[in-house]
Amino acid sequence: AKQADGNDVCFFEPDMLAEVEQRFALEQALTQALQQQEFLLVYQPQVTEAGKVLGVEALIRWQHPERGLVSPAYFIPLAEESGQIEAIGRWVLQQACQQLQRWQQTLFADLTIAVNISVRQFYQPDFVDMVAGLLQHYRIAPGLLKLELTESLVLTDLDDAVARMQQLKALGLRFAMDDFGTGYSSLSYLSRLPFDEVKIDQHFVRECRDGHKPKDWVIVDAIIGIANTFGMELVAEGVEYKSQQQLLHASGCYCYQGYLFARPQPVTDFEHWLHQRQL
Ligand code: C2E
Ligand code: CA
Ligand code: CA
Ligand code: CA
Repeated sequence: AKQADGNDVCFFEPDMLAEVEQRFALEQALTQALQQQEFLLVYQPQVTEAGKVLGVEALIRWQHPERGLVSPAYFIPLAEESGQIEAIGRWVLQQACQQLQRWQQTLFADLTIAVNISVRQFYQPDFVDMVAGLLQHYRIAPGLLKLELTESLVLTDLDDAVARMQQLKALGLRFAMDDFGTGYSSLSYLSRLPFDEVKIDQHFVRECRDGHKPKDWVIVDAIIGIANTFGMELVAEGVEYKSQQQLLHASGCYCYQGYLFARPQPVTDFEHWLHQRQL
């Protein structure tokens, strides 16, 4: 509701009030969560058709002392609205870089880490400098850190987006287009933005069961065709069944992420999982 002219009066229903209070409480809790180390990253592998693990996606978890595990699908949008995403996002990037550095001296030295970046975070004025600082501090080799962006990024300013991406690519970062095909933008944006990879959204994957393609599979075929045309890599997310992998493979996809291979898990569990596979 507009406030300036006073014309827009908004009456809160009791349950709306409760919701507002709850949001406010959660916003405050988010601020404390960073200081009290209630966040953690979990890692989910990206696996090729041949079974090789190329890297992981880092996903944030919030272990709230009273509420238990709070889903990022809930608190990330809240943090985006309140602006807290900038501090949370910085923490996520710092953790991911620290993890890459730890893996440098191990068998996992060539694993990539993909980090989800909110649009608001991407456009913060010091974002490029902040990332550059982390890469330098943790001595991250080029190509190991990947940023996942959603197509809503182009709603703001396409030229600015391209410029920022080019600056970051010059530092050795790679970019993945997340959730492609689910938003507002057209397929043609992919040709104008310097993405290295496209992720096929789990919405499409979920719809294919028992070896049957859903009606909107033409979109998946189009995404795969465009990715191949522009020389981008492809990762399908949300792959839970072998039959889904087979359908994706038949359409030209070679890399997968999903419960079929592993759930997102804390780093020691992930390392254990990978050791077992490699034995
Ligand atoms: P996303 O980037 O699309 O991440 C994929 C989501 O699918 C994750 O949910 C993951 O746990 C889930 N998933 C993976 N494999 C499967 C599967 O086989 N089946 C099903 N049903 N689900 C699967 P999660 O971890 O709850 O994250 C939800 C969303 O929250 C993410 O969607 C992303 O948009 C956002 N998010 C998570 N971590 C971060 C972060 O560090 N920063 C930002 N900005 N956003 C984040
Ligand atoms: Ca993602
Ligand atoms: Ca996604
Ligand atoms: Ca998604």
